Amino acid sequence: MDIAIQIFSGGFTGKTVLFETVEEKLFSILPRLPVSKVIMGWSLNKTLYEKTAEFLAKNNIAFYLWFPVFSETGAFAINDPNKKLSPLIDVRGNELEKKADHTGEDFSFCCPNDPQNIENILSIFDENFSSIPFTGIFLDKIRYPSFAQGKQSVFTCFCPHCRSEYEKEGFDISYLENLFFKQNTTPFGITGYRGNGQYDFDDPVMSRFFSLKSRIVSRSLSRICGYFRDRGLAIGLDVFAPFLSPFVGQDLLQLSGLCGFIKPMMYRATQAPAGLPFETEALLHGTESKNTTKEQAFYGLLGFDPGKKVFDLDFTVRELRSLASVSACSVCPGVEINRIKNLADVYPDYIEETIMAYFTTGVRGLVLSWDLLEAPEENVVRAADTIPR
Ligand SMILES: [Zn+2]
Repeated sequence: MDIAIQIFSGGFTGKTVLFETVEEKLFSILPRLPVSKVIMGWSLNKTLYEKTAEFLAKNNIAFYLWFPVFSETGAFAINDPNKKLSPLIDVRGNELEKKADHTGEDFSFCCPNDPQNIENILSIFDENFSSIPFTGIFLDKIRYPSFAQGKQSVFTCFCPHCRSEYEKEGFDISYLENLFFKQNTTPFGITGYRGNGQYDFDDPVMSRFFSLKSRIVSRSLSRICGYFRDRGLAIGLDVFAPFLSPFVGQDLLQLSGLCGFIKPMMYRATQAPAGLPFETEALLHGTESKNTTKEQAFYGLLGFDPGKKVFDLDFTVRELRSLASVSACSVCPGVEINRIKNLADVYPDYIEETIMAYFTTGVRGLVLSWDLLEAPEENVVRAADTIPR
């Protein structure tokens, strides 16, 4: 089993952590766990990365930079107008409104389809991180916004680059808009779920819309992954759970062909973006399904039991099992070990139950997420005791 640990060292503009803090945490966990990778990012602190790289190299552990792609990188435009990223545009031609920040991260997104955005984002890596001896890169926020930023943000992007894609595909945008906001008996008129993010819709235009978004993200990621591969870096991708993935433009099978591993964020206890209960609620609210028969119909299609105390483990296991059976690369699900009040109330029993179940699904590893520095000792100890040596 491939065991990775994630460390949040601060955002591009926020406070950063000291190497000594990271070192102390690693010293306490490494003797207990066979860690093969450390993923850390994305504060701008060369010394921290250089010292960590040296420490990990000595311990024969791969070091991945945790790098957000289509979100967060907008921060560089504050000091450098050349780094300005073109935003997502709604169907009326307006910039998408920014939503409040949940976790110290910035969840506003740029258009993943604008080639200039991609070049600017790669230059951010080049100028700030390329001299540090990382073994790999771990790409996060490789998507469109989710329902957590409102339904309108899922119905994007309509910038000139994206409009030309719709034209090429022969979309009637006003028909699509009506369809998107139409009332159905299930969210978006979903009629079936075949696993791995593959939904059937009663109108195939809906399915074509989500496929096009995923194709755009995959195409951009193919360029981005090529850039990092050419620099000799191994690649991991942070992705949504399969049943949520099409709504953020992620085709997990396409993405799995571009990297060494994918980390579906199977966060059953997280009440923040990417967390399964949080995103499911957002989807239900965003599609006006909450507390209606549509909610029950959606659960029925997924085979999801909403009555469980913690997000349905059997459903989550089925999601992982089907993903692991078709993925072109290793699947290493993310499991929370940090505890952040009201956002991730994570305790040892949850960790044990989750890890034990995920190990039965055919996955090749785990990513202990998303911040070792916020993980209480008892959580780390239980994770270590649960993972077979
Ligand atoms: Zn666009």
